[in-house]
Amino acid sequence: MSEPDAGSDLAAVRTTGRRVDGGWTVSGTKIWTSGAHRAHALIALLRTGPPDGRQRHVGLSRLLIELGQPGVTIRPIISMTGEHHFNEVVFDQVFVPDEQVVGTIGDGWAQVTSELAYERSGPERLLSTFVLLETLAGEFAARPGDAGSARAVGRVVSRLWACRQMSLAVAGALAEGEAPEIAAALVKDVGTRLESEIIEVARMLTATLRVEPDPEGAGIARLLAQAVLHAPGFTLRGGTNEILRGIVARGLALR
Ligand SMILES: Cc1cc2nc3c(=O)[nH]c(=O)nc-3n(C[C@H](O)[C@H](O)[C@H](O)COP(=O)(O)OP(=O)(O)OC[C@H]3O[C@@H](n4cnc5c(N)ncnc54)[C@H](O)[C@@H]3O)c2cc1C
Repeated sequence: MSEPDAGSDLAAVRTTGRRVDGGWTVSGTKIWTSGAHRAHALIALLRTGPPDGRQRHVGLSRLLIELGQPGVTIRPIISMTGEHHFNEVVFDQVFVPDEQVVGTIGDGWAQVTSELAYERSGPERLLSTFVLLETLAGEFAARPGDAGSARAVGRVVSRLWACRQMSLAVAGALAEGEAPEIAAALVKDVGTRLESEIIEVARMLTATLRVEPDPEGAGIARLLAQAVLHAPGFTLRGGTNEILRGIVARGLALR
């Protein structure tokens, strides 16, 4: 979905599909494409027709584009942890046959918004710092008598459980064929903030522990360092929390 100038304002996508005999010629740049360097194909949101006045959501479609063909360039975006998950993908007049249109032409906006409800509320969305929390809980379970630490861990565990139940409720609504975009936005806002609060609890509690340097292992020091470096993305990917709160406010008729 995302492009260098189209993130929160997704309807601003500039990658275009131009009608040609038997298909579409695609040109443009996508960014933050998770796993493009490992994938055989991706599904791109692009503009195949003009907007309808101020209705910028009109004229957007999605195509399945194979990546190993001439005209496709994949460049890595390296994370602060040194890992390679993300990419910039440039399309230079890439031919896509009609059979690789996803659904129908012009239906792209409805498709991405309904998919985002799955992406935002999925039970796994809340789990970026789960292994850190689990390790932390294990560490303090082995220290009976430390009631203050147990309370701090218990507080985030109980909230994580509540978030999980909210997330499952959204999954249930999706399975019933409903479109719970507002509830999904709420779950992601609450859940991603909790992911970062788990880091703060870990930071606070490990300050009182003697943590051994552990550059290769899976101990608390390494998990905490990884979590700190990944944390800025928690509230950005899949739609920023400011955008999510706008969706919730609209759902409450507050804007
Ligand atoms: C780790 C990571 C993984 C990602 N993975 C993917 C992926 O796999 N596929 C994909 O397509 N994209 C992916 N993205 C892109 C992500 O969806 C965008 O970064 C996100 O939507 C924000 O867009 P932007 O970066 O262009 O920021 P901008 O839209 O420029 O926003 C900048 C700031 O302004 C605020 N802002 C913008 N508009 C408003 C408004 N109307 N009201 C209030 N505040 C506003 C935002 O909240 C943000 O704080 C990923 C991003 C990250 C960081």
